[in-house]
Amino acid sequence: MIRRRELGRGERVLPGVFRLRLPLPWPGVPHCNAWAVKAGDGFVLFDTGMYDSESLAHLERALAMCELRLQDASLIVCTHAHSDHCGQTNPIIERAGCEMWMHPNHKQLTRMGEDPESVFARRIEVARQSGVPEEPLRRYAAERSARGSGIAGVIKPDRDLLAGMTIGTDVGDWVVYETPGHAPSHVCLFQPERRLLISGDHLLGRISLYFDYGYSPDPVGQFLDSLDVVERLGARLCLPGHARTFADVHTHIQGNRALVREHLAAVLAALDGRRLTAFEVVPHAFGTAPSGQNTQWLLSMTLCYLTHLAAVGDVRRIPGEPERWTA
Ligand SMILES: [Zn+2]
Ligand SMILES: [Zn+2]
Repeated sequence: MIRRRELGRGERVLPGVFRLRLPLPWPGVPHCNAWAVKAGDGFVLFDTGMYDSESLAHLERALAMCELRLQDASLIVCTHAHSDHCGQTNPIIERAGCEMWMHPNHKQLTRMGEDPESVFARRIEVARQSGVPEEPLRRYAAERSARGSGIAGVIKPDRDLLAGMTIGTDVGDWVVYETPGHAPSHVCLFQPERRLLISGDHLLGRISLYFDYGYSPDPVGQFLDSLDVVERLGARLCLPGHARTFADVHTHIQGNRALVREHLAAVLAALDGRRLTAFEVVPHAFGTAPSGQNTQWLLSMTLCYLTHLAAVGDVRRIPGEPERWTA
């Protein structure tokens, strides 16, 4: 059951740049941001928020607070293929008749739109393989089937968003930088004259990590490389995918690096002289046992750390049912 604690809200952060704060039904993640940037008679919408029966009303309410109308959206640009950033694409296109651009590495999203059951089934399989016991698996499957995917229909981007492309707005052109790691499709958008960065989930105000498991060979390695890419830009203000804007971008980048290093060291230490499943590694790496709603998140992170440590030769995967890992 979806409980709403708040409404969609909009606010101007700079002339021509608006933050649209859209509620999410997720525990611990109360809302996400979409960003509207004026462009001629209309505006470019960076990210869309997730989809459910009330989400379009929240978006329209947030836009109205900025004196914008949904039908004037001239383009949707999505930072990455997660439901809270692109889920509402189709209803917006229906209303505004605009295009949507996204990076082409969004296989997981296409699959989720076409056949959500097989995506959930695969997640359960990965969890079982990683040593998650039957009872939490059953609970996860039950919770999952009670919830929607957060995505309206099958999303088909009109154009591939690739490195070096620019998006014109009234505050200047935004340049696309590929920043995979959090998701394989992740991009950041940088406005060089004003040094503004639309960072999606690559950089968040409160340092919080997540990596998609199973869609690229080494998401953690990619994430670290992407931090280098963004660091070189010298952004002055970050417009993130969740919570408020922040100015100390460099400090946040360093904080992300430090947290990844800390997690990797903890995972490696846990495997010293032991053969553990990914599920058994979780409490060592994060200081908390996986339970209910955070199981998928913690497991995905842990598997990505293990994959990275295997890629650099520090740990070894021991095939089996379940599979185990050792230093
Ligand atoms: Zn995301
Ligand atoms: Zn997000």
